[in-house]
Amino acid sequence: MNDLPIDGFPTTNENAAMVLLVDDQAMIGEAVRRGLAHEDNIDFHFCADPHQAIAQAIRIKPTVILQDLIMPGLDGLTLVREYRNNPQTQDIPIIVLSTKEDPLVKSAAFAAGANDYLVKLPDTIELVARIRYHSRSYMTLLQRDEAYRALRVSQQQLLDTNLMLQRLMNSDGLTGLSNRRHFDEYLELEWRRAIREQQQISLLMIDVDYFKAYNDSFGHLAGDEALRQVAGAIRGSCSRPSDLPARYGGEEFALVLPNTSPGGARLIAEKLRQTVLGLNIPHTAPSADARLTVSIGLATVTPSIGSQCRQVISAADKGLYLAKNSGRNQVGIA
Ligand code: GH3
Ligand code: MG
Ligand code: MG
Repeated sequence: MNDLPIDGFPTTNENAAMVLLVDDQAMIGEAVRRGLAHEDNIDFHFCADPHQAIAQAIRIKPTVILQDLIMPGLDGLTLVREYRNNPQTQDIPIIVLSTKEDPLVKSAAFAAGANDYLVKLPDTIELVARIRYHSRSYMTLLQRDEAYRALRVSQQQLLDTNLMLQRLMNSDGLTGLSNRRHFDEYLELEWRRAIREQQQISLLMIDVDYFKAYNDSFGHLAGDEALRQVAGAIRGSCSRPSDLPARYGGEEFALVLPNTSPGGARLIAEKLRQTVLGLNIPHTAPSADARLTVSIGLATVTPSIGSQCRQVISAADKGLYLAKNSGRNQVGIA
């Protein structure tokens, strides 16, 4: 048996009982105290004022309440209902102590929420047996609730971890954008949706201009930082939740724009080109006073049944090739 404390309960020792007797007669209190005095692991508390019963139960956290039925000023059954209506006492087993063996009183006591019924003064052996029985089942209930709570917590942690792993698996380490794997998956998914719904899908392929020269001039760490800034601009140019910015590889990025017309895609591409220019990242190519720029290839397709999504990638690639060949820092459409 272990005696480590668990949340709010003194001990997990399932043989231990904490008894609260609520009875206006001190003599009854004394008799029960004496009856339980030599029992191992039974703590006894006595409350003579029924108006203090709830507060005392909340404070000492009994595993069994012995409740007198007839007390001046407060009816025992009313008190039983009050225990049941209070979240802090609602599950504590209640043994009602009555003066008589009366089926109607018994029935009313159980209806009010009592767990057991004894006629005063019960035989000590029987009282102890019932206290131990109810106390043990209450402890089991608490342990079960605690186990369920812990299970829910660990289930939530598992969900959180899975979500985090999913994000890690889908994202590019340097820029935080989607990685190539996720881009491939997403484009395929949106391609099929576009076929089903006969909608347009646009794709931007974005390539940093003269980036090899940038690394050569400023070093790879500065190159990495420039890629992060470009990635930030690409992320910022997405307005719909369905837009997906990704790092396609090296200094090439892609932006999937589902359900977007050529005009809309062109607007986004042109704005992005200007945003990157506006980052004012100094560059040494093509001239000594240049700024870092991107070339963008754009394609829009309404895919037909049976077509493959590489169709839109290769079209956007052609646009990019055009942009590069026409002098870079521009949007090309094949
Ligand atoms: P262009 O204008 O025709 O696109 O010329 P470019 O120099 O940008 O193209 P090229 O393909 O010749 O060079 C790409 C360079 O990008 C070479 C490579 O070292 C660099 N690069 C690729 N990935 C990274 C990266 O993660 N970090 C850094 N710092 N550089 C990278
Ligand atoms: Mg390049
Ligand atoms: Mg390139």
